[in-house]
Amino acid sequence: WFISLEGIEGAGKTTQTQLLAKWLSKQGYDVLITHEPGGTPLGQSLRTLLLQHTLPQRTELLLYAADRATHVAEVLQPALQSNKIILCDRYTDSTVAYQGYGRGLSLTLIDQVNALATGGLTPDLTLWLDVPVPIGLARAKKRGVLDQMERESLAFHERVRSGYQHLTTQYPERLVRIAGELPVEQVFTQICAAIAARLSR
Ligand code: C5P
Ligand code: MG
Repeated sequence: WFISLEGIEGAGKTTQTQLLAKWLSKQGYDVLITHEPGGTPLGQSLRTLLLQHTLPQRTELLLYAADRATHVAEVLQPALQSNKIILCDRYTDSTVAYQGYGRGLSLTLIDQVNALATGGLTPDLTLWLDVPVPIGLARAKKRGVLDQMERESLAFHERVRSGYQHLTTQYPERLVRIAGELPVEQVFTQICAAIAARLSR
């Protein structure tokens, strides 16, 4: 099983991933937590490059793709082979939302780059933790990670959020919107319900 978590900064992806991992482990599942960008040693270097520099848009797209191709080959595929449940903080939808809707790169091109990077590996379920941009910003500020976010305008983050909305409409079988502005326990309850509905299918 491959579950990805998506959403803007401050949506609660990391917190919910931890809770979910505990919940699934208790039920006897073998869980692997990972993330993009930076889920491999090469990916860590790419992450540093990506977050510390403002790069040309297509360079940025290709470095995220290089991070993903490495992650798929070295982490995700082996984990699926050994029957783990993967919880992945960001995956292909981030590229569509950020580089596509956020930056305005061609969505067709991004789908092609994603297909190349993943070799076709698609999540079984994607949890979109949706929060209004000002709430995400406020949470990121509390955590002291606002710098990264502040490089972009409010309008950019709104476009990213609308990108996730489009994806959810486009792939309703895979993407589930979770109301992320609620208290942590209530967000988690929605996630458990979404997963239970699918694991029992
Ligand atoms: O969620 P995480 O902290 O790993 O994301 C790091 C940063 O990279 C975020 O601020 C996000 O805005 C950015 N990012 C991006 N394009 C992606 C994935 C992440 O701009 N495809
Ligand atoms: Mg996070």
